[in-house]
Amino acid sequence: MKEHLLEVTNLKKYFRMNKRTVLKAVDDVSFYLDRGETLGIVGESGCGKTTCGKVCIGMAEKTGGSVIYKGKEISEMDKKEFFRFTGQVQMIFQDPYSSLDPHMRVYDLVAESIRIHHLARSRKQEKEMVYSLLQDVGLRWEYASRYIHQFSGGQRQRVGIARALAVDPELIFCDEPVSALDVSVQAQIVNLLVKLKKERTLSLLFVAHDLAVVSHISDRIGVMYLGSMVEIAETDEMMENPMHPYTQALLSAVPVADPRLERERERIMLKGDVPSPSDGWTGCSFCGRCPHAMEICRKERPEWKEIKQGHYTACHLK
Ligand code: SF4
Repeated sequence: MKEHLLEVTNLKKYFRMNKRTVLKAVDDVSFYLDRGETLGIVGESGCGKTTCGKVCIGMAEKTGGSVIYKGKEISEMDKKEFFRFTGQVQMIFQDPYSSLDPHMRVYDLVAESIRIHHLARSRKQEKEMVYSLLQDVGLRWEYASRYIHQFSGGQRQRVGIARALAVDPELIFCDEPVSALDVSVQAQIVNLLVKLKKERTLSLLFVAHDLAVVSHISDRIGVMYLGSMVEIAETDEMMENPMHPYTQALLSAVPVADPRLERERERIMLKGDVPSPSDGWTGCSFCGRCPHAMEICRKERPEWKEIKQGHYTACHLK
């Protein structure tokens, strides 16, 4: 059987708020990511997608379940193995302005991980690596002497990408990397990530709340709701045949280019409030907003199952 680059099984990440309340940020989530593949994870704010990504790259500890990277459970890695792992997985942040040190020049921001992981044998080689990374992300080498506040939003994100690429990673967790950018700049950054992924055989875990953006970049899409994964499928299959009522509602809100079709199509309006992940509930977490909710949905949590090849969902209708 083929070994996945990353394999996540029944992952849980809980936060104890006080003696009585536990916030279930990620609750029983399972998925895998292959080499050279982009898995987009979509869902509204607070659904647990960022927390899930952080646990996968070792930035947060899990409460339960397993995260296996290249056959090794990351929580069982020794210091040496974990250090090597941190050189193979990287993160691109939503807001490079707050995640990059404003007192460091771009050169040092990009060179920092090269130094930490001793990847250059000399100053000359380090310089060549930094300049080549800047070029790869579409920035001029002269920009290396500037500070982050001297750039536009799109250029800042390019610096963030160059910094993530500096250690030549295998997997990058992209945490809403375009949501703070103008639409025209979003397309440039998404296209840049697509190009880099192809050139470097990168695996991307791409998290966003915008299904249109996620569908453009992803080979497969996972949909999260309130800490749970509710559906995963290949992108075309997901867009043409969404099975879970929450995915159907998300898809009905994606704009279409044809103005006539856009006017005529029916949008699924979800009623009810999103419960807090710290509220205790039994049954399906989407029950309070689902237009198809049945008696069983209130009592039993739907099982996560493969409905057709590669297409998984958790819904009592399936
Ligand atoms: Fe709706 Fe029931 Fe399916 Fe949940 S299990 S999504 S409430 S039909």
